Amino acid sequence: MPLENWQKDLRHCVRNIDELESYVAIKDKELLRKAISRMRLSITPHTLKLIDFNNPHDPLLRMCLPQAQELAFAAGETYDPIGDDKKSPLPFLVHRYPDRALIHATYVCAQYCRFCFRRTKTGHANPGPSAQDRAMIIKYIADHPGIEEAILSGGDPLMLTDQELAAWLKALSSVPTLQRIRIHTRLPVTLPSRVTPALVRTLKRFQKTEFPIYLVTHFNHPQEIAADNVKAIARLVNAGIVVRNQSVLLKDVNDDLNVMTELLKRLITIRIVPYYVHQLDKAQGINHFRVPVNRGKKLIAELHGHLSGIAIPKFMLDSPDGSGKKVLAA
Ligand code: SF4
Repeated sequence: MPLENWQKDLRHCVRNIDELESYVAIKDKELLRKAISRMRLSITPHTLKLIDFNNPHDPLLRMCLPQAQELAFAAGETYDPIGDDKKSPLPFLVHRYPDRALIHATYVCAQYCRFCFRRTKTGHANPGPSAQDRAMIIKYIADHPGIEEAILSGGDPLMLTDQELAAWLKALSSVPTLQRIRIHTRLPVTLPSRVTPALVRTLKRFQKTEFPIYLVTHFNHPQEIAADNVKAIARLVNAGIVVRNQSVLLKDVNDDLNVMTELLKRLITIRIVPYYVHQLDKAQGINHFRVPVNRGKKLIAELHGHLSGIAIPKFMLDSPDGSGKKVLAA
């Protein structure tokens, strides 16, 4: 089968330190090699175009550039920072809340975020679920009729081909007690070429009047919203897919009132409803991105004077014990 354009784009990602060095000066290549042995490297051609390489503090560069700080673990940082393993009845399935189940449909992403809280799974070439795993997950969901919503997450579920994604959507929509599907993806941000007319047709094929598909994106900075991203989002929204956004509060990326205000304004302008801003989870080696909780609370409170209420997300913390999310500020 010929490669689609988005698959060709993936072939041009920066994936090793020598390639990275052609874009940015690197002081200690060995340290960065160690960092990417813990969390793999990929930067998409789309992101490479949006980074200002003359600015060493470019926020997009900060999110994808490996750093020696990733090798140091801060107190309290853990392997499983939101307690997924305790709530996993089957491989690739997390059942934390009675009415929702989260499926790791793959551990592959187009671009690897250096702050990823699932870095122990996404950071390496871990295999995703097989057809047999999928069948067991579908049976589990069917056997638990209290589950109303299935969340396809990852990694990034839009890294699956349209055929693979359709297999999940078909199997999930065959469960009579399931009422909706949610897809968590950062590809409309880092690889907007993935949002093809064929992908949108695939989603529309499984979305019914009373069986919606929600798509949750992950924009963190207004500089991530370029013309190709706007086009990708318009394709989804015009097809009737509800698109919402969750961000992570990141030091020197979006922990600033003006940046956060601009991000949220841009999101509602392109018809994405902001949803959550997450306090950074305590994954190992990401402390250099951490913003104190009180600073995050103050930032969200200040948004109220600057923004329409429809643009203001909730500030959330995921408990490390696996008990779920708590609202820190709204
Ligand atoms: S896209 Fe999501 S899962 Fe993938 S590296 Fe980034 S934060 Fe982690």
